[in-house]
Amino acid sequence: MQYRPYGSTGRDVSMLGFGAMRLPQNEDGTCDYDASVPLLRQGIDAGINYIDTARGYISGTSEVAVGKAIKGYDRRKLFIVTKIPSNDIKNSVGREWRRQLEEQLRRFDMEYIDLILFHGLNWASFEEHVSKPGYALEAARKAQADGLVRHVGFSSHDTADGIVKLIATGEFEGILVQYNFLDDHNRPAIDAAHDAGLGVTIMGPVAGGRLGVPGSVALPGQGIEALRLPDLALRYVWSTPGVSVALSGMNAAEQIEENVASAERTAVMTAAEQSQIAAILEKNRRLTELYCTACGYCMPCPNDVNIPENFRYMNWHRVWGLTAEAKDAYAKFSEEGFHASWSPQKITGLNAEYCIQCGICEPKCPQNIPIRKQMKEVAAALGA
Ligand code: SF4
Ligand code: SF4
Repeated sequence: MQYRPYGSTGRDVSMLGFGAMRLPQNEDGTCDYDASVPLLRQGIDAGINYIDTARGYISGTSEVAVGKAIKGYDRRKLFIVTKIPSNDIKNSVGREWRRQLEEQLRRFDMEYIDLILFHGLNWASFEEHVSKPGYALEAARKAQADGLVRHVGFSSHDTADGIVKLIATGEFEGILVQYNFLDDHNRPAIDAAHDAGLGVTIMGPVAGGRLGVPGSVALPGQGIEALRLPDLALRYVWSTPGVSVALSGMNAAEQIEENVASAERTAVMTAAEQSQIAAILEKNRRLTELYCTACGYCMPCPNDVNIPENFRYMNWHRVWGLTAEAKDAYAKFSEEGFHASWSPQKITGLNAEYCIQCGICEPKCPQNIPIRKQMKEVAAALGA
């Protein structure tokens, strides 16, 4: 594991952070501690010391899982990060903020938090209430003085300008923002944080979801063979000056192994390699959208063909060169449906072979895709 200074805090953090928002869950939506605790410990044993959770993750049970997992480890070596929402004026009142903090400490069964983040802070909330006397910022300072939190920062989905303004207040020691090879709009905020000596943590470094391809496949061709997508994505983020930590929301042993292996490599990308990779991925993404944007306007199909999902797999095959993955996924279509890593919902509906060429879907497609003809092509390319 490689470690980096977290801004000017004097603390070193693992450049891979364990995002505890996607830990295994029970049927009732609470965290499955029996499955989650060993995963968190696997990460800690591999050298991860930065663990990120939040008041709201997994209905509050993510914090409990983290607290259970760190029992027995040297607390001083760990950097535990959690968040409290404060954009809502009610939550931002100092007394309420403090009440929530104390409740969270009880969930963790911990005496202090290394870094507390104002969750999803934006400039308007900061100006209007968070920074005012009697509100959250004052409460955070008091909590620091009382030894309940070591450092104060914020996460944000505000514009980069809004984030830069928050940084410029001089009130914070760290930020958590979105950044990946398909979305670098926060680069000015990262630069500003770096210049101001703040720690910078990145969420969403692996843009697999947005690329619409499985997160664990090789990027084919293009002279960058043998590099897996999450590896590329993480190395892209770590190669950006100022980045301290990239978070990965891990929930499987192999995923932890793979991400840790990426963090153990020393090679960083040059700016030219970064641009080359971003350009290839962007080109592929655009090509994908040229074929089918997955808008779903063509649905429902009277014969229950899942049109966008069939096209998704066709795109894996024709744009990404992921023929084996495309055929595997295509073979899973069934009346009962199936769960897959690339979709938050169960995937239902049938494969292209069930298209009866009625043509009802075609006038509804804003892309003017000749769906009937292409369904035949999908069946020929991906069918048995
Ligand atoms: S043409 Fe095929 S995919 Fe389109 S609605 Fe008819 S059966 Fe469904
Ligand atoms: S309407 Fe066209 S672009 Fe939209 S999901 Fe259907 S085929 Fe794809």
